[in-house]
Amino acid sequence: MSDCLFCKIIRKEIPSEIVYQDDFITIFKDINPAAPVHLLVIPNDHITSLQATGEEDQLLLGKLFFGAKKAAEQAGIAETGYRLIVNNGPDAHQEIPHLHLHVLGGGKMQHPMG
Ligand code: AMP
Ligand code: ZN
Repeated sequence: MSDCLFCKIIRKEIPSEIVYQDDFITIFKDINPAAPVHLLVIPNDHITSLQATGEEDQLLLGKLFFGAKKAAEQAGIAETGYRLIVNNGPDAHQEIPHLHLHVLGGGKMQHPMG
């Protein structure tokens, strides 16, 4: 059993604001929001990053994207827009080694990115 922070959130061993959970994915509020709406969409399996996924994970990756779409609708930001971010590896400042999709919205974001 993984002692990873996000794995503990999935197992509800540490508190978090989970907005959706099924057999494959969990969606919860980021503890340090970078936008009025900031959700994290994660696979229930401990997958360290996008680079750690294989051919067999393609359906799961689709579930993460679709979960982000549904969560954006539920959060009321589907019409105004939102940004999806996956930080992958050190240059992108990935801090938690459990694959996660950031869903950011609820206000105008900076453009261009980077
Ligand atoms: P990243 O830099 O892409 O690895 O993002 C990690 C994200 O996890 C950051 O936005 C943190 O604010 C968030 N985070 C860290 N600990 C928690 C926690 N206990 N509950 C919710 N979000 C967290
Ligand atoms: Zn994990």
